[in-house]
Amino acid sequence: MKVELCPQCGSGKVSRTNPLADTVKCDGCRWAGKERELMTTEVAQDSMAVALAVAQNFLIALTQESAIPIGRAMFKAGLVQSGTDSVVIGRLVRSAVTAACRATLEEVDHIQEEMVHGTSDTRSS
Ligand SMILES: [Zn+2]
Repeated sequence: MKVELCPQCGSGKVSRTNPLADTVKCDGCRWAGKERELMTTEVAQDSMAVALAVAQNFLIALTQESAIPIGRAMFKAGLVQSGTDSVVIGRLVRSAVTAACRATLEEVDHIQEEMVHGTSDTRSS
């Protein structure tokens, strides 16, 4: 089954604010946004609680371990300058962390899919 996770805190407690629109909110951290911003991952029903916990722990650990190096990398690359608003830097760092988390969960899905179905990934590795 497909599990949807909050892109900000990794919680699975996300719900549609309006069934006709693509807006969603998180009961874990009060994040609200578009449906396409959610992180999705494929899990077996019986291991859903475990998968949710792992995904959430990964996002938290990734944020703790990488926020400062990512900020430094943005500075080094010229993406941000010393005078850049800290709110803007925070948004960019959060975006980079959630994108990395999402990409990792998607790759885990691909790997599990390959293990189950034995299909080889056609993308270059
Ligand atoms: Zn959240």
